Amino acid sequence: MNDVKSWNEAINRVLEPTIIKTKNILDNYKYLYDIADKLRKAKEEVIKNLGYYIDKTMKSVEMVGGTSYLARDSEEARKIIGELVGTNKKIVMGKSMVAYEVGIRQYLINMGNEVWETDLGEFLIQLADEYPSHIIAPAIHMTKERAAQLLKEKIDPNIDESRSPEDLVKSVRKFLRAKFLNADIGISGANAVAADTGAVLMIENEGNIRMTSVLPPTHIVITGIEKIVPTLEYGFYEVMVQSAFGSLYPPTYVNLTAGPSSTADIEHNRVRPAQGPKEFHLILVDNGRSKAARDPVLWEALLCIRCGRCYFHCPIYKTIGPSWGIPPYNGPTGVMWNAVIRGLNNKNVGETAMLCVHAGGCKESCPMKINIPEVIHYIKTLYLRSL
Ligand code: SF4
Repeated sequence: MNDVKSWNEAINRVLEPTIIKTKNILDNYKYLYDIADKLRKAKEEVIKNLGYYIDKTMKSVEMVGGTSYLARDSEEARKIIGELVGTNKKIVMGKSMVAYEVGIRQYLINMGNEVWETDLGEFLIQLADEYPSHIIAPAIHMTKERAAQLLKEKIDPNIDESRSPEDLVKSVRKFLRAKFLNADIGISGANAVAADTGAVLMIENEGNIRMTSVLPPTHIVITGIEKIVPTLEYGFYEVMVQSAFGSLYPPTYVNLTAGPSSTADIEHNRVRPAQGPKEFHLILVDNGRSKAARDPVLWEALLCIRCGRCYFHCPIYKTIGPSWGIPPYNGPTGVMWNAVIRGLNNKNVGETAMLCVHAGGCKESCPMKINIPEVIHYIKTLYLRSL
């Protein structure tokens, strides 16, 4: 990962334009604030009744011809996915922080599979053997010069450092096209999972998630239980709010998957598969979330829709960057998320929280109105009491 000097160079190129762009989106589409408020209420309802909604979601996925699994922790999630995938497979992955959280990519590589991240930022950090530096912009710490150097080293010796971003993206597009077409399995995350229908929603702008979820014969979704929303309507709210506060509105693609592909074109009988995947699997990961849901303060972290806006309004992240956190989670929401998955009594989590100065920009910028400074204050208090 970068040192502070190169971090400052990279973040200074993106910070102001991103803040202005998001502000313009929110000024132009004011209805997003109302939708965000409704979404928060719906997510509160799910967090208070997690068991009920997990059960309902899993049944809904089975109703549309998919298979659903609940993984209590990272080890169980790896085991489930390992059994589904097997060995000697070609795998393409869409962007998923939960896949990082449970260590999927390396686990599948160790089993003898070929695995490629297909989101450009994720692809770059896979090549660099690093962790994401931001929840939705994983390679934000890389300047275009560093990206060019990396691509030259790993995939195309003809690339030089003076190449434009357009040229760099073209090289990656060429490289990944073949991977999509030959993949046995596509693995993606999810922005929302609708309990009433078993539909999974995934937003993106690159087109890689669409190809990951449609081209290979098997599509596996791995996501946290907090991504469940009561109905499909709220699933659409979630992707609208996430993309707008994440500074791209409308999102270029909204992918909805409800089970494997099918057709009813012959005598109106539903037949599976058709042209898309033959199999659809949803792995819901707990990994500390249901415990956090019962905590009087930490539960609020589960409202996070991972838009990444709080990072850009945080003086600590702006100054020291992705090193503020425990991989894969960093930044203000990362402090809370590390407490969720590692536990409130984890010493490293407490030490990370101690760097927060409670400037409050995170709370002000959060679409879910999560009181991040209060949650971090709580983590700090428990840590200091434990010393
Ligand atoms: S805490 Fe709020 S602002 Fe930060 S990533 Fe989550 S939803 Fe977005």
